[in-house]
Amino acid sequence: MRLKQQLLTQNDCYRVRRTIQPKGVMVHSTGANNPKVSRYVPGDEILGFNANGNHWDRPGLDKCVHAFIGVFADGGIGTVQTLPWNARGWHAGKGKKCSANNTHISFEICEDSLTDPVYFQAAYQEAVELTAYLCREYGLDPLADGVVICHQEGYRRGIASNHGDVLHWFPKFRKSMDDFRRDVAQILKGEDDMTEDQVRKLVRDELARIEAESAARPVPDWAKELYADAVARGITDGSRPMAAATRLETAIMVNAAAKLSKKESSAAAEDEKCVKEIDGVRCTLQAISYGMKGEEIRNSEGFYCQLVPHGVLEQAYEVLRRYEKLLAGEPLVEQIADDWRKSGKFSEGPKGVI
Ligand SMILES: [Zn+2]
Repeated sequence: MRLKQQLLTQNDCYRVRRTIQPKGVMVHSTGANNPKVSRYVPGDEILGFNANGNHWDRPGLDKCVHAFIGVFADGGIGTVQTLPWNARGWHAGKGKKCSANNTHISFEICEDSLTDPVYFQAAYQEAVELTAYLCREYGLDPLADGVVICHQEGYRRGIASNHGDVLHWFPKFRKSMDDFRRDVAQILKGEDDMTEDQVRKLVRDELARIEAESAARPVPDWAKELYADAVARGITDGSRPMAAATRLETAIMVNAAAKLSKKESSAAAEDEKCVKEIDGVRCTLQAISYGMKGEEIRNSEGFYCQLVPHGVLEQAYEVLRRYEKLLAGEPLVEQIADDWRKSGKFSEGPKGVI
């Protein structure tokens, strides 16, 4: 649509300034062979000029519409708006019941000889687009009963005078007013339809939102300990605990778990080889050595904590004495005993004990 405005401010219809709440659009055609809009408006460089002073921008006329569709100065088709869309136009006359002037926005399609399919097609298309524009502006459904009608249809409905337009013209080019309404509706529907890019963006945004939302959810209570353990063991990095894992992340986690499992089972086997029984509790040499250094060793029995209480080295001496035969010859323990001897912290050192 090519829309320009030249309001007919000198027309009496404009000057009375009555307004309506538009309920529909009435399509007219001029009934005279002159496709130029400048026949009906004073015009300008773009619209073309009216040279004869017979335009409608003057007092004393009993007619006025909201727009004309026709040929502009450059020979192309366009629309010139001549009344505010919510002004009460003088276009429908009176029907048996009432007048569409009170309800419908109106436009005239400038007629030519009614034999040129190229002009018809261009003017028809401009009319469809203008009507779609008005329907959108005023929230009108072009397919609803009585909303988009031509003058002749208005007459049949009892809301307009008895004029034939546009049904003396459209059918010559195999167009009905039903076609017209459908074409208007098609434009409005097209505006509602989203482009493929818009749909893709919508889906992407929604997926990202769902992903972010689930990733931010806290670990449920029942899984907290297990999850913390998995993080501590390096199976997962602890971020986005509730997010879905990709195949890549899954593969890496499974791999880490498999390696860990192998390492832990071989460490356990190694420990098993070194296990000793002290006071009826089985423990590994590694654990014993930690215990002898006064470090806290946790096991299910809590045994190693008792082996050498923190900082009480004299008691460690007793430990060595008690378990001297058991631990004799174990390099790890020998090393610790040697450290003790060198520290000189004992009144009588553990020398000779092991
Ligand atoms: Zn008419």
